[in-house]
Amino acid sequence: MSRDLSGYIKISVLATPSKTPSASSPPLLCSFVMDIDEAETSAGEEGAPTVDRAVDPPPIRRLDEAVVNRIAAGEVIQRPASAVKELVENSLDAGSTSVSVVIKDGGLKLIQVSDNGHGIRFEDLPILCERHTTSKLSAYEDLQTIKSMGFRGEALASMTYVGHVTVTTITEGQLHGYRVSYRDGVMEHEAKPCAAVKGTQIMVENLFYNMVARRKTLQNSNDDYPKIVDLISRFAIHNIFVSFSCRKHGANRADVHTASTSSRLDAIRTVYGISVARDLMEITVSDDSPARSIFKMDGFISNSNYIAKKTTMILFINDRLVECTALKRAIEVVYAATLPKASKPFIYMSINLPSEHVDVNIHPTKREVSLLNQENLIDTIQNAIESKLMNSNTTRTFQTQAISCSVASQFSARKEAENNISTSGTKSQKVPVHKMVRTDSRDPFGRLHAYWQSEPNSQQEKKTDLASVRNAIRSRRNPKELADLSSIHELLSEIDCNSHSGLLDIVKDCTYIGLADEVFALLQHNTHLYLVNVVNISKELMYQQVIRRFAHFNAIQLSEPAPLQDLLMMALKEEDLESPTNENDDLKQKIAEVDWENEKECFETVSAVLGNFYAVHPPILPNPSGSGIQFYKKNMDKTTSVENVENRLANSDEVDVDHELLAEAETAWAQREWIIQHVLFPSMRLFLKPPKSMAQDGSFVQVASLEKLYKIFERC
Ligand code: ADP
Ligand code: MG
Repeated sequence: MSRDLSGYIKISVLATPSKTPSASSPPLLCSFVMDIDEAETSAGEEGAPTVDRAVDPPPIRRLDEAVVNRIAAGEVIQRPASAVKELVENSLDAGSTSVSVVIKDGGLKLIQVSDNGHGIRFEDLPILCERHTTSKLSAYEDLQTIKSMGFRGEALASMTYVGHVTVTTITEGQLHGYRVSYRDGVMEHEAKPCAAVKGTQIMVENLFYNMVARRKTLQNSNDDYPKIVDLISRFAIHNIFVSFSCRKHGANRADVHTASTSSRLDAIRTVYGISVARDLMEITVSDDSPARSIFKMDGFISNSNYIAKKTTMILFINDRLVECTALKRAIEVVYAATLPKASKPFIYMSINLPSEHVDVNIHPTKREVSLLNQENLIDTIQNAIESKLMNSNTTRTFQTQAISCSVASQFSARKEAENNISTSGTKSQKVPVHKMVRTDSRDPFGRLHAYWQSEPNSQQEKKTDLASVRNAIRSRRNPKELADLSSIHELLSEIDCNSHSGLLDIVKDCTYIGLADEVFALLQHNTHLYLVNVVNISKELMYQQVIRRFAHFNAIQLSEPAPLQDLLMMALKEEDLESPTNENDDLKQKIAEVDWENEKECFETVSAVLGNFYAVHPPILPNPSGSGIQFYKKNMDKTTSVENVENRLANSDEVDVDHELLAEAETAWAQREWIIQHVLFPSMRLFLKPPKSMAQDGSFVQVASLEKLYKIFERC
């Protein structure tokens, strides 16, 4: 159970060890978390145990009911946004079709929620705000099938222990309504008749008036209003038949305003804007195998055009707004791995399970729920999203390409045959265990994905489709006939003669594992593991491809001719910054120096420059996932004292990060990683002829071999 620590004080102290500290024994950094509520209630009570009396256990006393209630209330109503959530849920439970929220001072001064639901009976008003009074649950067993959002009868009571609550309500058929105020669970006076419109209005004023520390923390920290707007937005796009509004007290315009609609996408468009709704895809998944999981999910997920720095995940499980970190992570992983842009996704998801498969009672604010077969459910949803994204990518990129079905079916047939071999092969093992290779270099998706995949055949076929499309495009872009130039023929035969046969074997038949750092990637070839320098490899590959495609490049017609003279000048200046002043003469001289007569050398250097230009160099912005993150921290004073650094670490939220730059860097690095896996390595397998020099210059380094590892383990 994760608890919101907003109501706790966090203290960091430097505790000096009792021994004289030496240079090698730094002071210990300890951190304590203290509950404010407990601190408040025990302060002033006599007989706090002193060190001398520590041998006698302190006596156990029963807490006053008022104290118990206030402690409990502090857990249910952690902040203004949690009070709003409880009130809106009550309105929805009451069958309302219209809910409006008004907020003053981030909810500390006033929270007012009005609805047009069934109202509250006059005779129930005296016990309405007592703890554990509810109209929604009578026996414990009802919890298994409960459909309403509330069930504990705690929310209204809690609000009366930490704020002033006034209820105005009218039920069907009555001529007038009633208004009554509550404190500490009880009515302050008899309910007064008043004019009222259909439904209930609940006002909570002066929230946390009696919890000084919490009020201060909330006043100091950011206003809760944006959290409340976010909350109402989420309710609004799930409960599309209900109209919602949310505004600041005294404001003319509402910050969320929706009308009842039958289209979820319309609701999303109204709340989150056209630019979000435009880039969403509908998704539905269901599973009804009792052995795995039983559920139905429908939702909207962002496609590859959507760009955002933060994930928006709106999750309803059996119509309850909840959080599920494991599911969120699983989805983020799919997006990062599938889409080149590495944008964070927008997800709206509504999951329905048999109510006996959900435990709704595991969190004080019901923010989390626990699900039966959670891993299987996450797995199924993850696979569905992956295939949806792959499909959207395929249609986007290859809309006008004719897909060669024969290649696709050949590929899947081969894959199937291989699968059969490997399954039957487990029984009659001919290959010794220490030479057994379980990977397949033709798998276009690298190795890590393989460990997630247990998806149905149709998805496999889609992936092989994608591979065959890629192959078809590659062969079209790589013409069979070479340039009719003797120099190019010579350069090509040099590439062939100079190719290292051992490295060529590795390149042709290796499996990509992942990036080891900014420059090296890990490859597996048979029983060996290699580190390869992706910058060197991409440079060489691009050079060779330029030579092979020489004279077959697509011509790009510029609408205005490029200012060649200026460009040459810039290039030459860059090369030689201390050039003499007479630029024009100098330029002419330099151009004259180029050996235009020697065709081979000229083409070779042009190709090498192009190779270098297209190589996958690390991005200019430092990699934020390692120590490079320092670069994005603003105002990091280099001369900061140790205490300052420790304070910052204790309260890491305070470190000011340049989010825009950071997001740009994250995108650049994720894009590069994607390109390395999905573009560089597949084409390297097809086209690279590694020169002999690469065996010596550190471009390929063997880091492990299975046979040797077996020898080591045999000795253990
Ligand atoms: P719970 O929702 O867990 O039952 P609450 O303290 O939130 O507990 O509410 C107590 C009871 O008050 C509810 O069971 C419901 O009968 C009634 N109630 C609260 N808010 C409303 C509302 N807006 N409209 C109608 N009834 C309400
Ligand atoms: Mg409730």
